[in-house]
Amino acid sequence: MKGIWFTELQTKGLTIGCEVKKVLHREKTPFQEIEVFDTDIWGRVLVLDNAIQTTTKDEFVYHEMITHVALNTHPNPQKVLVIGGGDGGAIREIIKHETVEKATHVEIDKGVIEAAKKYLPEIAVALLEANPKVEVLIEDGIKHIKEKENYYDVIIVDSTDPVGPAEGLFAKDFYAAIHKALKEDGIFVAQTESPFYNQDLISKVYRDISSLYPIAKIYGAFVPTYPGGYWTFTMGSKVYDPEKIDTSKIQAFETKYYTPEVHKASFVLPKFVQELIKK
Ligand code: SAM
Repeated sequence: MKGIWFTELQTKGLTIGCEVKKVLHREKTPFQEIEVFDTDIWGRVLVLDNAIQTTTKDEFVYHEMITHVALNTHPNPQKVLVIGGGDGGAIREIIKHETVEKATHVEIDKGVIEAAKKYLPEIAVALLEANPKVEVLIEDGIKHIKEKENYYDVIIVDSTDPVGPAEGLFAKDFYAAIHKALKEDGIFVAQTESPFYNQDLISKVYRDISSLYPIAKIYGAFVPTYPGGYWTFTMGSKVYDPEKIDTSKIQAFETKYYTPEVHKASFVLPKFVQELIKK
C-alpha cells in the first residue's frame, strides 16, 4: 500500500484503518496522545491513544444517539451532564432541546477540546463561542460526580474505551455515584462498546445498571468507524421507559440519523445481544 496509513490496534487481534491525506495535529498530553488526520474516506478523524474517537463522516450517528434517546425519554430535561465527550458533539445535540437550561461538559483533557475546536469545528460548534447554556469544566468526571446529589435530569457518559483515565468510568461505584447525582426521575446513558468484541463489558455494565435502576435497557446504532460497526449504549432510568415515549411530543429539529422510529427500533436487539444481558 502506498501513502500514509493509520491503523487502529484497539481491539486485540483486529485492525481498522484508513489512508491518511495529512496529519493535521499530534500532541502528547498528561492523559493521552491526541491526533487529528485528514482523510478522503472518513473526512477528519480524531484519534486518542491510537483509537478512533470520531470522524466528520459518521459522528452524527453516535452524537445523536447518545443524546436524543435519553433527552426525548425525559419529559422535561433541564440540567444535563456530559462526562468525557471532549469533541463537543454531544453538547451540540443537547442544546437543540428547548427545555435544556444548562448543559455541563466535564472533560479531563483540555487538549481534546482545543484540538476539536481547531480541527473539527463542525463537531465542536457549541464550544466555539461562549453560550450561557453551556458550562465547560476541565476536571475528572469521577470527582465531579461525587460532589453532586439529586441534581441532574440526564447524565451522559461519552467516554473513551475502558483503559487509562476512562477505566473508572465503567466501574460500579461510579455508576452508584451517578445514580445519587441524578434527580429522582433522572436518566443515565453511556456508550458501552461493541457487542461483537466487548461482550463481557456489556454484560457487566448491564448487570450494574439493572441493580441500580428499575428500568435498564440496551440500544444500538451503526457507527462504521468503530470496531464491528454495531455499537451499544446502556441506559438506566429511575421512572421513564424509553420504549414507551409519546412520539407526538418530541420536539422537531434537524437530525441525520435519529427519528422517533429509530428511537423505538434501536431497542430491538438481535438475539445474541439479548443473550449477553441475560447472562
Ligand atoms: N465517541 C467516543 C468513542 O466512543 O470513541 C468518545 C469520545 S470523547 C473524545 C471521550 C473523552 O473522554 C476523551 O476526550 C477523554 O479525554 C475523556 N475522558 C476520559 N476519561 C475521563 C474522565 N475520567 N473524566 C472526564 N473525561 C474523561
